[in-house]
Amino acid sequence: MTPQPALEGALRADLIAIAYLIASVLFILGLKFLSSPRTARRGNRLAATGMLIAVLATLLDRNIISFQWIAVGLVIGAIAGASMALAVRMTAMPQMVALLNGFGGAASALVATAEFFRLEMHPDLTVTTDVAVSVMLALLIGAITFSGSIVAFGKLQEVITGRAVTFPFQKTFNALLFLAVLASMVYLVISFEHEWVFLVFVGLALLLGVLLVIPIGGADMPVVISLLNSYSGMAGAAAGFVLRNNALIISGALVGASGIILTQIMCRAMNRSLTNVLFGAFGAQAGAAVAGPVGDRTVRSVQPEDVAVMLAFARSVIIVPGYGLAVAQAQHTVRELASLLEKKGVDVKYAIHPVAGRMPGHMNVLLAEADVPYTQLFEMDQINREFERADVALVVGANDVTNPAARSDPSSPLYGMPILNVDQAKNVVVIKRSMAAGFAGIDNPLYYLERTAMLFGDAKKMLNALVTEVPNV
Ligand code: NDP
Repeated sequence: MTPQPALEGALRADLIAIAYLIASVLFILGLKFLSSPRTARRGNRLAATGMLIAVLATLLDRNIISFQWIAVGLVIGAIAGASMALAVRMTAMPQMVALLNGFGGAASALVATAEFFRLEMHPDLTVTTDVAVSVMLALLIGAITFSGSIVAFGKLQEVITGRAVTFPFQKTFNALLFLAVLASMVYLVISFEHEWVFLVFVGLALLLGVLLVIPIGGADMPVVISLLNSYSGMAGAAAGFVLRNNALIISGALVGASGIILTQIMCRAMNRSLTNVLFGAFGAQAGAAVAGPVGDRTVRSVQPEDVAVMLAFARSVIIVPGYGLAVAQAQHTVRELASLLEKKGVDVKYAIHPVAGRMPGHMNVLLAEADVPYTQLFEMDQINREFERADVALVVGANDVTNPAARSDPSSPLYGMPILNVDQAKNVVVIKRSMAAGFAGIDNPLYYLERTAMLFGDAKKMLNALVTEVPNV
């Protein structure tokens, strides 16, 4: 008898453990670098390298039954992923993130399902409590993440209504449903048999995911997206326990934890508690404020030539980008305008609201793409005091994040959400195409102020007109 194979086995196990350790360190460093726009690209590359190492180590570690099937899956997945990444427009990124969160949840749920049937079919295999709990948790969180994310995708893609959907006794129904899910889960952990109970459990978990997301709508969607992102990480970590894969446990826990931190940041940015976001049914009221002029209020519409004069003679201009800037893909044009103004001695700054656009960091990504210097980007807390000193606040396709009703009108669904104090600037220019509402679907009193001038039109077209006019002033 030769000790060779045992030694080889031990050595391989050590190498795999070291590979997983390196991968985990790379994930953590990647996250660290992602915390600043300057180092974010490096962070992305590090984390991707970590994932490559983890995947290769897993392929060597496991008793792979068929590399051919893995290769087929890899090719199909790579083609689908690459074409989605190439085709998706920047404005549709949140939907894509929602969909990918859902896929993450589905993958964990499928791993748990496969493990349940494998163990159930072999009664000779002992199922320890930790395995049973891991399988059920991966399935529960994975299924909720999947169905919840599909609903979030539908809302953001406007396939279904973006408003909060409520019905009588909803909270009671959800609580009872949650208890039923919990009961079937406990039963399965103890018995680990009866396929029909398993199927009922999966069905109830999927239904719970749908019902948890439908009552959330309007401006609360960013919180849901980051929460579902966190769930997908937790489901992955649970699947890691099922497969006894340390890299999966660590990466899942990192996604879960960072998603929760982001959720908290988003809640703080909107001055809402997480419970209020999850159960407050934003925008469900039938009589909530609507878009369009109210009563006899009128707006002042101006032409690009008027705005060019105002901007060229200003000492300080604060640009407020919003979702409309992303729709119009006007990031390069706005930077061009800013450079022209700076040449004329105007001090130009950008005010970035944490939930501007349709995904966390949306405006930072867009402006970085146009090489706007980071030194000109200011977060809400840093810039809010400066608005009252600014000669012009130039709002480009932003709406909800500038709505003063959030500060002053307790009946507004946005009440309490910190906003950019655009209305305090000496002059306000708003570039948007019409009087249509923003994401929250509510009217914006900013547009009716005496100091506000509306420059109606597509953001890119209007900014281009300003780029042409400013040098003539
Ligand atoms: P809003 O969605 O409130 O408003 C955008 C405005 O842009 C609209 O009023 C629209 O008016 C205008 N617009 C659209 N297209 C163009 C165009 N081509 N040219 C010029 N204007 C255009 O955007 P904000 O950035 O102010 O606020 C973001 C909202 O989205 C918040 O309510 C936030 O909670 C929510 N949200 C944020 C997420 C995030 O993670 N950041 C995720 C999901 C939702 P008009 O049609 O008249 O042109």
